[in-house]
Amino acid sequence: MDYYSNQITQLMEELGKLPGIGPKSAGRLAFHIINMPQDQVKKLSDTIINAKENVHYCKECCTLTDQEICPICASTKRDHSTIMVVENTRDLIAYEKTGKYEGVYHVLHGAISPMLGIGPDDIRLKELIARLQGDVKELIIATNSSLEGETTAMYISKLVKPTGIKVSKIASGVPVGGDLEYIDEVTLLRALEGRTEI
Ligand code: ZN
Repeated sequence: MDYYSNQITQLMEELGKLPGIGPKSAGRLAFHIINMPQDQVKKLSDTIINAKENVHYCKECCTLTDQEICPICASTKRDHSTIMVVENTRDLIAYEKTGKYEGVYHVLHGAISPMLGIGPDDIRLKELIARLQGDVKELIIATNSSLEGETTAMYISKLVKPTGIKVSKIASGVPVGGDLEYIDEVTLLRALEGRTEI
């Protein structure tokens, strides 16, 4: 039975498709939105649409940006010969928050997972390989220490080794299966400093 008006049900269904939003939260959010002033609802929906339309991948590192080249890639203060490979933009932000990393990044937007049918062509690996034609001295692999993260690290290492570019991996102080973005800055810095060549 449809207890609510069709449109509220629809709103709850759409909100319920978002990650981490169960049926209860979806209901709470839907009613909250209905009770919000009209202009606030409009601002929220406009912001969502604008972000979706204007945010894209940086032409160099593939992170999410609303510019052609993200501020990190555009900065002349960064060491462009050191590239840290991360799985997503949230991991990049986690490292940026430490304020100690001076190189640039490459965002893969995922990790290789044979189980989920995600292969090397499904993540931004080609773009990374293309960047290695430039003046690159070190590649720091900072994928998560999950099975997928480790598989990806190994794949990249094998691919890059023949080029003679130094490949290192962040220390395993990062808990297994732990998402990088939830790890505190001290642990991240220790993992970065304790990186080993692979
Ligand atoms: Zn960039």
